[in-house]
Amino acid sequence: MEARSLGAEYDAWTEHFRMGTWEEAFRCAGLDPGFYLYRKRSFDEVLPWDHIHSGVTKAYLKGERERAQTEKTTPDCREKCLECGVCDHKTVYPVLFRDGDLPHGPEKPALKTAPGRSNKHHITFTKTGRARFLGHLELVRTFIRAFRRAGLNLVYSKGFHPMPKISFACALPLGTESMQETVDIEIAGTPGTSSLEESINLQLPSGITVISVEEVPFDKKKERLKESHFLVSLKNGVKLQDDYLETFLKSEYFPVVKINKKGEHKINIRPLVKSMILVSPNRIRLIIQHTSGPQSKPAEIVRGVFSLDESSVSGMKILKTNQVLG
Ligand code: SF4
Repeated sequence: MEARSLGAEYDAWTEHFRMGTWEEAFRCAGLDPGFYLYRKRSFDEVLPWDHIHSGVTKAYLKGERERAQTEKTTPDCREKCLECGVCDHKTVYPVLFRDGDLPHGPEKPALKTAPGRSNKHHITFTKTGRARFLGHLELVRTFIRAFRRAGLNLVYSKGFHPMPKISFACALPLGTESMQETVDIEIAGTPGTSSLEESINLQLPSGITVISVEEVPFDKKKERLKESHFLVSLKNGVKLQDDYLETFLKSEYFPVVKINKKGEHKINIRPLVKSMILVSPNRIRLIIQHTSGPQSKPAEIVRGVFSLDESSVSGMKILKTNQVLG
């Protein structure tokens, strides 16, 4: 009530959430949030959610907590029951998937949006300055919110979890600026493309600017990203060696180590590079071609080709100058 009277409204939407309002509300109500958040609780304490019975006993959860703290895994209980309290093994028992269990209902025809009721637009934008630190998912959210605030009626996919029909040509590596990024959207109604550009720009944060909006035929297939052109600049004092570049360009196989969630693995970066030119001792023009195989980022390519150490790559600036779709 206190927070509401101070103006808190629609707090689940992050653009409406004001931390200061809630801090003020806690102060007015004489409550210390730290008491609820940071206090170590005893195992005997009655917790606010203790009246909800999920079946799992507190003793079992306590044991699981101790196992987690000693980094012990808990085996799959379908092999041997661990007595967590959920199953009575008569009417409730651990779920085992059997292929034949799935119901086979009649196939539903795919739902299609009727042509004429929505329009596709191809939007080109720049991402520069501090906006380069927005990750791809943050960028997607930023655009969806901007479209909504601009009053655009986005078309959603059908089904259980509808999503707005928006699709980016690529996910730019974090920290990379770009003069040409594209996103395709589907919207209901027919706004003029010039007013569209202006109204979206009014809602975008600084660093992201729509430079063109083009209406595309409804049945036109989405174009694939074929090439990305980059200008890579290293800090003053770093001298890139011509002979390293020559060796790379003459090679057919040039492995670099990539680290991802699955661990380290080598990929051949030579087929990914269409051209690489040293324009000054610390500046490179690089064209990456996008194939269906593993991809590599410009920073990884430059680092691998010139065998650069950590200090040489720190402060590296990467600008995507343009892209080729087709
Ligand atoms: S089999 Fe049932 S009661 Fe036993 S540990 Fe698994 S979920 Fe808990």
